[in-house]
Amino acid sequence: MKHITSLANLKETLSNIRMTGKTLGFVPTMGALHLGHISLLERAKAENDLSFCSIFVNPIQFNEQNDYDAYPRELEKDLSALAKNGCDYVFTPSVKEMYPVAVKEEYDFGEMDKVMEGAYRPGHFNGVAQVLSRFFELIPADRAYFGEKDFQQLAIVKQLVKKKNYKVEIIGCPIVRENNGLAMSSRNMRLSEKQRKEAAIIYRCLQNVKQRMNMEEPLKLKKEVIRDLEKENNLQVEYFEIADANTLQPVKNWDDTPEMVVCVAVRIGGVRLIDNIRLFN
Ligand code: AMP
Repeated sequence: MKHITSLANLKETLSNIRMTGKTLGFVPTMGALHLGHISLLERAKAENDLSFCSIFVNPIQFNEQNDYDAYPRELEKDLSALAKNGCDYVFTPSVKEMYPVAVKEEYDFGEMDKVMEGAYRPGHFNGVAQVLSRFFELIPADRAYFGEKDFQQLAIVKQLVKKKNYKVEIIGCPIVRENNGLAMSSRNMRLSEKQRKEAAIIYRCLQNVKQRMNMEEPLKLKKEVIRDLEKENNLQVEYFEIADANTLQPVKNWDDTPEMVVCVAVRIGGVRLIDNIRLFN
């Protein structure tokens, strides 16, 4: 695995890759890698000649300084996990190289970034769009891999690519979970054993919606599930939405749309966790 740390090195490496005519699969990450990230790498390897991961904790997508400071950073461990799993290239730029000038770009995703994560994390998707634009302009990948764990992000990235006419194909990959159903996340490292066990209720509640769908109105079901989640001590629900999977707007009736997504954000202690599940009519 080749480790690239500077833009000069990146440019040289990419021009060498281009000369081979090989296809490139890109997996952007913020590090503290787990099996969810590795599943994206596996997919990139399976569908492309070469795999390329980035590790960059993007300061401008954090809306809370504490969250940015506390975000786990484990570069050596991550590099060995990527090498062990057959990654060809890893790029770990500095903040200065990613943002040589402090220009804040403004993106407009219409109604899509006004709900859920967008509503609770002001500026978050603007920061995500800015860093990904920079990556897509630097790295001529054929495909880029994103987890459905960040469902809203995936929808916004697809819009970004369309808007800016990037040539990269965006591929969504399924959520990888712990044995107890908890969606894998770099933030899980900050949970105690007890909190990890408690957090399993998130997925149980999402599955519960799937079972009770069509039996109760979405709004009523939503209220009941929030109550069930908050029965768990120390767990606060930030939002819980049953939304159209394409527009991400809340649904009022089950037959509003054929494809839905149930998205949730909770806080356990100081840790914020998100998860979702798809529903089909
Ligand atoms: P992050 O490092 O949190 O920015 O995540 C990098 C990529 O990994 C994003 O596309 C995430 O959606 C994806 N990802 C994170 N957790 C999981 C998971 N449990 N299963 C699948 N993909 C994931």
